[in-house]
Amino acid sequence: MWPQRVQRALGQVAPSLVRRLSARIVDELYIEVKPREAAKPALTFPGIWLRDNCRCASCFHESSQSRRLDWDNFDASVRPLALHVDANSQQLHVRWSDAHESSYKLDWLQRRSFAGDKQQEYLNEFYRPRPSHWAGKQFDSIAQRFHYDQVMSEDAALQQWLQALAIYGVALLSGAPLDEGVVRRLAERVGFIRRTTYGEEFIVQAKPGAQNYAYLSLPLPLHTDLPYYEYKPSVNILHCVVQTKSQGGSNLLVDAFHIADRLKREHPADFELLSSIDVDWNDIGSEDGREFHNIWRAPVICLDASGEYTRINHSVPQRDSHFNAPLEKVLPWYKAYARFVSMAQKDAHSFKTQPGDVLTFNNLRLLHGRTGYDDSEDNSRYIVGAYLDWDIIYSRLRVLKKRLNVAN
Ligand SMILES: [Zn+2]
Repeated sequence: MWPQRVQRALGQVAPSLVRRLSARIVDELYIEVKPREAAKPALTFPGIWLRDNCRCASCFHESSQSRRLDWDNFDASVRPLALHVDANSQQLHVRWSDAHESSYKLDWLQRRSFAGDKQQEYLNEFYRPRPSHWAGKQFDSIAQRFHYDQVMSEDAALQQWLQALAIYGVALLSGAPLDEGVVRRLAERVGFIRRTTYGEEFIVQAKPGAQNYAYLSLPLPLHTDLPYYEYKPSVNILHCVVQTKSQGGSNLLVDAFHIADRLKREHPADFELLSSIDVDWNDIGSEDGREFHNIWRAPVICLDASGEYTRINHSVPQRDSHFNAPLEKVLPWYKAYARFVSMAQKDAHSFKTQPGDVLTFNNLRLLHGRTGYDDSEDNSRYIVGAYLDWDIIYSRLRVLKKRLNVAN
């Protein structure tokens, strides 16, 4: 009953009505599964991966969707000994060298294909939507607006807002009430507020004796928030309650992933320096009587193992005077950083939010700033802010997509 290669006899049934299936062991270590539908390629799976992902009740705990296989005694040399395919139930059965037997459904296997394009499809759909980088002059075409009330009451609107935020790194909501609870309600619609040294909600308005540069009415140069945190807050929510009537007070936004793309293309040596030299970012002060001293070392452009951007760090005030870089790299690093900052400034898009607008953007990707404004009693600016984390947002997005049955 366990031949090396089994193809179920078709009998008298017309071939188009039968979902045939075949499988074979390749090089003793791999299993090739061939759905017999036209145009469906064979799928190759490493045997050890299949054994590791056995779905039986002693290897997999269904209700928690977790592996319970005993890994203390897992045989990394495990091999498939015999296969059996069941075309009616579309299942593959495997007998293993460790005397275990496993069954896998064809559609489960197909969703876990090791083919590069299938893996990319899964990552774009379920891991994270693929970011689309933009130049400042494209801002009006990429920045989507959503209605606050719809986002608060309709799951489809919530999903679309978070999806736009994930792809473009920025999205706006309109029509929010002018009370201080908006950012909390919005954050709690997604998950929960990310707390930092500066509290949960924070007010951005001119303050005498400010502990933070943002709390002055001076121009605020482009930056990312809290680069001195290892676990940096992901998304800024800025609710405009009162907007200054003076010329200034505009938001500045730049997609730093786009600037990094350009730097990589036009000045690869600068890109290399900014993505490999750790910078000391710091913040010293006190808030509500609590003293703090934060330091985190990271490059300006942070990359993952496949060379994709994970985050951008940039802040003039929050860059430490301690610069623990190799002496000979310091001059070239400054030249590269000055080029990056100048490219970003030239690309910055300027716009002014109105009372009731909520600006949301990816703090790990966009640089933001503000033009200076006149602050007086009858001409003030009052913005309430909070942060959300990508872990919470992506999780919410995956759950919503499953519920709404939408793909990217
Ligand atoms: Zn098992």
